[in-house]
Amino acid sequence: MAVYDVVVIGAGNGGLTAALTLARAGRKVALLERHNVPGGCATSFVRGRFEFEVALHQLSGMGTERMPGPLRGILSEFGVLDKLEFVEMENLYRVVFPGGIDVTLPTDRQGIVEVLGGLFPKEKDAVASFLDLVYTYSLEMVQGVFFRDPLISKEKYPTFFRYTFRNVEDVLDEFFTDPYLKAILSVYWGYTGVPPRLMPFSDLAVILWAYIEFKPFHLKGGSQALSNALLDAYLKAGGEARFNCAARSIEVEGGRVRAVVTEHGDRLETSYVISNASTVHTYLDLVGSHRLPQDDLLKIKGRTVGPSAFTVYMGFDCTPEELGVFETSNFIVATIDMDSASEKMRTLEPQDWAMFSCYDVSDPDFSPPGTCQGALVCLQYADPWYRVEPHAYAETKYRYADAMISLAERVFPNLRAHIEECEAASPLTHMRYLGHPGGAIYGFDQYAKDSAFFLTNQSSIEGLYHAGSWVTGGGFQPTLTSGRSTAHAVLKAIKGR
Ligand SMILES: Cc1cc2nc3c(=O)[nH]c(=O)nc-3n(C[C@H](O)[C@H](O)[C@H](O)COP(=O)(O)OP(=O)(O)OC[C@H]3O[C@@H](n4cnc5c(N)ncnc54)[C@H](O)[C@@H]3O)c2cc1C
Repeated sequence: MAVYDVVVIGAGNGGLTAALTLARAGRKVALLERHNVPGGCATSFVRGRFEFEVALHQLSGMGTERMPGPLRGILSEFGVLDKLEFVEMENLYRVVFPGGIDVTLPTDRQGIVEVLGGLFPKEKDAVASFLDLVYTYSLEMVQGVFFRDPLISKEKYPTFFRYTFRNVEDVLDEFFTDPYLKAILSVYWGYTGVPPRLMPFSDLAVILWAYIEFKPFHLKGGSQALSNALLDAYLKAGGEARFNCAARSIEVEGGRVRAVVTEHGDRLETSYVISNASTVHTYLDLVGSHRLPQDDLLKIKGRTVGPSAFTVYMGFDCTPEELGVFETSNFIVATIDMDSASEKMRTLEPQDWAMFSCYDVSDPDFSPPGTCQGALVCLQYADPWYRVEPHAYAETKYRYADAMISLAERVFPNLRAHIEECEAASPLTHMRYLGHPGGAIYGFDQYAKDSAFFLTNQSSIEGLYHAGSWVTGGGFQPTLTSGRSTAHAVLKAIKGR
């Protein structure tokens, strides 16, 4: 029987960075992944002559060499930074209300004030004040919470305490009157799936700050290149990885982890497990609800599974210019009513909010010469898809994809005529590949009560830890960071035993 210091379940961002941190610290680690490639969401797939990026639209936290962001430092520490080539996006985003406002925000703070001030002259000062708030809030949060200031207090961090649990709509109303201006500044709500009325201001502030301050990036080879580089570094550090090898159960005895059993029946003895699988799957399937401490069961029951995504991946037989696409990140917003847009994420009705990414705009080598690719994505819950009869699934999925393309054609009329390859992924597709309930890509719904402030990477079962979106909230930067911090917690626990 094999004995390991730590078994890591799942090779998504959180699992890979946890396993790598432990292996580099000299620990004997086994990494188990049910799929045949590393990355979880951070993967790619091939259709025809295109390699499609599954997930990454905008990478946050990188910063430039001159002004490095936190993720650049972490990737450098992992020894993978020089193996990857990052591509800075030319602008923050373009927002188009079909038939109405069409605006592109640059990635610098003053530039945003100028652009929005030009469109909404009466509210120009308010835009500057709002961005001041975003910056002050985020810096206080980093200093007070991320750097764990032991002297954190209302007096020392007044903006953080005043705004953390206010919702985005409430804060926007404090600054602005024009509904379009509010919609443009809060368009990132669609990244989390929580509409401005419910989205914690902390989330919007930190997303905006991270993308403006450290710029949005993509990388050559897509997110699969990052996952492969992390796996290579892990193997070089002496780690063991098994693919096509799901964990089937976590053995717990006397309230402590004892072993992990794989789907092939191998028993890996260990006192520490880091699960990158969903907490729902980890507790209910792998540990077993009958063995679960009440505390953990109650925590799961009090949360709701977050959204998945519907994506149409398209390979085009022409360049972005020929398609009329000049920005990498394009938000298409067909309503000003964000509550109704978010409600549609729970139905099979055509969506009013979508994002179209064309990576070739910032990286002309992303696709074969003379071609380009685009990902058209909206967030969606799995619930309506569960009700589709198996025989109607394919037809429903392609009809839905067709409606998404029609929405995008309101901005890019030539899209359909140039499609060479097309594939669609529904929440059920993500569920199949990730093994997460509802195919959730960010873990639980990102309401304030379920934000990273209240989630913990440690179970009440001794030796069981979590890494990834189910304990940090979703996104590349948070999940890549979470694996590292969970691994540090495990290293500390091993040392203290
Ligand atoms: C379409 C789409 C667009 C996105 N766009 C962006 C973006 O632009 N910017 C951004 O920052 N984020 C984006 N995200 C979100 C981001 O990709 C995810 O939040 C993040 O990658 C999740 O990482 P994770 O560590 O939680 O692991 P996951 O990616 O959730 O992976 C978990 C892994 O665990 C494995 N697993 C599960 N159960 C078992 C088991 N029993 N045994 C073994 N292995 C198991 C799964 O196979 C999987 O590999 C997007 C996601 C999607 C799908």
